Amino acid sequence: MSDAPVIGVLALQGDVREHVHALAAAGAQARPVRRPGELDEVDGLVVPGGESTTISKLADIFEMREPIDKRIAGGMPVYGSCAGMIMLAREVLDGRPDQRGFAGIEMTVRRNAFGRQVDSFEAPVEIDGVAGEPFHAVFIRAPWVERVGAGVEVLGTVTEGPAAGRIVAVRQGNLLATSFHPELTGDPRVHGYFVELVRAAR
Ligand code: GLN
Repeated sequence: MSDAPVIGVLALQGDVREHVHALAAAGAQARPVRRPGELDEVDGLVVPGGESTTISKLADIFEMREPIDKRIAGGMPVYGSCAGMIMLAREVLDGRPDQRGFAGIEMTVRRNAFGRQVDSFEAPVEIDGVAGEPFHAVFIRAPWVERVGAGVEVLGTVTEGPAAGRIVAVRQGNLLATSFHPELTGDPRVHGYFVELVRAAR
């Protein structure tokens, strides 16, 4: 296990434990990260699902915003799931005016986008770079991606149902984001994708 990358899960709010377990199952050494000193020790970071307005507020209170932005600028891989995707977006629609993300992906996401039709739902998503059958994706008050910048790769869209065609997985360099929650379904492929990304970036 000694060459396993060390991946932190930002532990300010949200489903931290589920991501720690999913990362461990995908071959990483996973640990919660709450303080700048803990961030220094990780090769990559997951920003979990939860509530982006709360994570934004706590990032300031715990003085994590600037250290995370610095590590992102230095090339540290970050994966954001749901609220974490919102925290990795340069522009947020339907956010609270005071919420602020990290220096993340050049994209516009709409917060709680699916919620107008249905609060939570499940749908198959085909993800580029994730082999095998479509990923069974769980969406909980999820955002979708409305616009991507030139350097952003669309990795996955919803394949069926009322939300078909919506962009729900993207990557820009070492930054990865999904609207859905792979930490809840026991399928390790998305975390595996991120662990490989971190391994390659080390
Ligand atoms: N709607 C939440 C937000 O704005 C995200 C929901 C989730 O992470 N499951 O942050």
